Amino acid sequence: MTVALAFYDTLRREIVPFEPLVPGEVRMYTCGPTVHDFAHIGNLRTFLFEDLLRRVLVARGYRVTQVMNLTDVDDKIIEKARARGESIGEYTERYARAFFEDLDALRVQRAERYPRATEHIEAMVELVQRLQRGGHTYTTEDGSVYFRIATFPDYGKLSRIDLSGMQDGARVESDEYEKEDPKDFALWKAAKEGEASWDTPLGRGRPGWHIECSAMSMEYLGESFDIHTGGVDNIFPHHENEIAQSEAATGRAFARVWLHAEHLTVEGQKMAKSLGNFLTLRDVLERGYFPRAIRYLLLSTHYRTQQNFTFEGLEQAAASLARLTDFARRVGELPAGEAPGSEVAPRTREARRAFDSALDDDLNTSRALAAVFDWVRDTNRALDEGSAAAADRAEIEGFLQVFDAVYDVLRPDPDERALSAEVESLIAEREAARAARDWARADTIRDRLAEKGIVLEDTPHGVRWKRLART
Ligand SMILES: [Zn+2]
Repeated sequence: MTVALAFYDTLRREIVPFEPLVPGEVRMYTCGPTVHDFAHIGNLRTFLFEDLLRRVLVARGYRVTQVMNLTDVDDKIIEKARARGESIGEYTERYARAFFEDLDALRVQRAERYPRATEHIEAMVELVQRLQRGGHTYTTEDGSVYFRIATFPDYGKLSRIDLSGMQDGARVESDEYEKEDPKDFALWKAAKEGEASWDTPLGRGRPGWHIECSAMSMEYLGESFDIHTGGVDNIFPHHENEIAQSEAATGRAFARVWLHAEHLTVEGQKMAKSLGNFLTLRDVLERGYFPRAIRYLLLSTHYRTQQNFTFEGLEQAAASLARLTDFARRVGELPAGEAPGSEVAPRTREARRAFDSALDDDLNTSRALAAVFDWVRDTNRALDEGSAAAADRAEIEGFLQVFDAVYDVLRPDPDERALSAEVESLIAEREAARAARDWARADTIRDRLAEKGIVLEDTPHGVRWKRLART
């Protein structure tokens, strides 16, 4: 195991060496989706960053326990379920299912647990009671319970937000009008007519949003754990409030390192339903792209850099993937024996070190990918010159495996395999037509392939085909 792994900690505002509480084990909490709609690609970028983080930790030999919550009760869910005449369970189930379909399509490795807020009401109530005993709360006339941030002097340490500007104007939510201080936040909301609610020792009501992440992370990972992640928009108020209520209750440090993924824009603009650029995975796939190209694109920018999603960028991502896939295939066709004076093996070891050290440096994915593509270019040149041979294969394929254990983009997607089977059979038909000197038939087949964006190429190893980036 390397000791070089380091992450940028939002709390300390610097890159710090990663040291888990228990050597060899990582306990990680990742804020999950609110299942009231399909995830948009900005959300998916965050989930892919967390997948990259998880895979790098596993590659470094850690045993990872990751917990991601599903928020399945909040104001929006209650409102939308009511508009449809459904229970919140019925309403959220379809989006929870869609969320897991998206994760699978994008090859996001499953977390160990996906706890749902509605299944952890008791743990949340207990945490609120603990805060009550510690004198950190007050109850308003309607029976709602608020966290009194004046009792937690460290409030604001994560976001370093200027709280003096938060005056009464922040009282936008009418149901929080009774707050003593606009910065205070709801731990428990008293039941309102016709809303989903639970009978508990705190009275009839439902949890505030923030409390679920504190209660569920502590239940599955302990009062202190190693890594907490989310998007930058979670920093304030969500993560600030998680810290306040967790540390006020336990008197211990909550998460040891905080990692946050930056925003994603679409064609240079902030995503918004009103702009019509609110893209879901389904929207992008409908345009004929394969999921692994989307995975690759969203993983190609460092998570702390804003990413601008464009369809042109997606074309380039698909082209880069095609280059990698061609390269992997070419390596499988290396001539037998040893190439005299081959530099390929030492060059491969060097590239692998550069790749690992880039990822160790706060998941510097752009540097890691640059190391891979420089190496592919050099190795392709060696292959062209005949100065690489089968003796180099183990080294090359070893690095490709290391790369793909983290990026997981070399396997074709199911739709791609279906396309391959169809194309391969058309190519075989065309070969048969050519052998029979039926040139008209051979041309017809080539034209049909061209319509699908397939370009044929004659090589010493037979006919190869390439699909242009889009179908
Ligand atoms: Zn959360």
